Amino acid sequence: MTKKILLIAGDGIGPEVVLQTKKIIDFFSQNSDKKFETENALLGGCAYDQMGTPFPQETLKLARASDAILLGAVGGHKWEALKYEHRPERGLLGIRKELELFANLRPAKVFSALADSSTLKREIVDGLDIMIVRELTGDLYFGQPRGVETLKDGTRRGYNTMVYTSAEVERIAIVAFDLARQRGKKLCSIDKANVIETTEMWREVVSEIGAKNYADVALSHMYVDNASMQLVRNPKQFDVMLTGNMFGDILSDTASMLTGSLGMLPSASLGAKINGVQHALYEPIHGSAPDIAGRDIANPIATILSLAMMFRYSFNYENEANIIEKAIENVLVSGIRTADIAKAGEEKISCSQMGDEILKEIKKIHK
Ligand code: NAD
Repeated sequence: MTKKILLIAGDGIGPEVVLQTKKIIDFFSQNSDKKFETENALLGGCAYDQMGTPFPQETLKLARASDAILLGAVGGHKWEALKYEHRPERGLLGIRKELELFANLRPAKVFSALADSSTLKREIVDGLDIMIVRELTGDLYFGQPRGVETLKDGTRRGYNTMVYTSAEVERIAIVAFDLARQRGKKLCSIDKANVIETTEMWREVVSEIGAKNYADVALSHMYVDNASMQLVRNPKQFDVMLTGNMFGDILSDTASMLTGSLGMLPSASLGAKINGVQHALYEPIHGSAPDIAGRDIANPIATILSLAMMFRYSFNYENEANIIEKAIENVLVSGIRTADIAKAGEEKISCSQMGDEILKEIKKIHK
């Protein structure tokens, strides 16, 4: 069956990195039994410029009709002074909200050839392969009441509410348990159950689901402060980590930096599976990098790895996902580097050359 992929190139380096990824989609479509149809849609600053809104209705319609979405990045200095509702980020938040993408998957994997790019010692990060599953739609970021009020004495009081229902914890826990089952069968759930009641309930719900349906997955629990320490002390102890929105925001950025480069990290945001249909958006974790946009020097690997995640999690095309990841590994082992991952004195290639090198390697492996 032909899979419909919606390409949202976005702003800055978005179009450059998505273009390289499209070459790979086209390759598989033309040379394997896996068939893809792509459509393009506007989101972010470019959408505001052309349509007067960062989140056109047409984009939402196409997103709903697609099997998966690949996004480059949105944003840039040009749109920073716009009113809040016109800013590019509203487009991204809008699409996540409309499609109810509640599960954010953030892998942090270190390719051996790049282990020296990390600020940590090679032996701590070499071979690292962890997956952080972060809840995206609840917690302090959305809980009511929230705000800042002025008190009688003229001082101000700010407040936000950490809130989760057991149903919300359950649905994200199931995503994490299923992933752990596909990977190393180890899940560590992060909370602060010693002082925050919401997370005490989180721990209870996760434990109940584990005991009931996932006896084959080794479940552990860790306080968030300890988890942040363990991530830099001994990150390889983790396989899948499950977190709420707030803790996950912080821990996933720490985990990213273990790998040393923003240009190497993919992500996925998944919705609930309803009658076999699951909305999913795949994107690099980096932004639109306005400082290097338009110069064909960005690293397209994070976006290409996002395509591998799409193949694996949306389409179950494990073989093709493995081929993409292996091709990237081979290219890195052979010393080919874009500017962001090159060491001083190493030769640097462009974004499009990196796309071509990866495609060349995919063709070799796919034979
Ligand atoms: P950024 O990730 O765009 O850039 C940070 C630094 O990393 C820059 O020096 C950039 O050149 C470099 N970099 C990022 N991706 C790279 C790549 N693929 N190859 C080589 N170098 C790369 O973050 P920022 O500068 O804080 O934000 C720029 C814009 O992107 C802002 O408007 C921000 O709101 C937006 N943003 C969007 C997303 C998204 O679309 N999901 C995420 C983060 C930031």
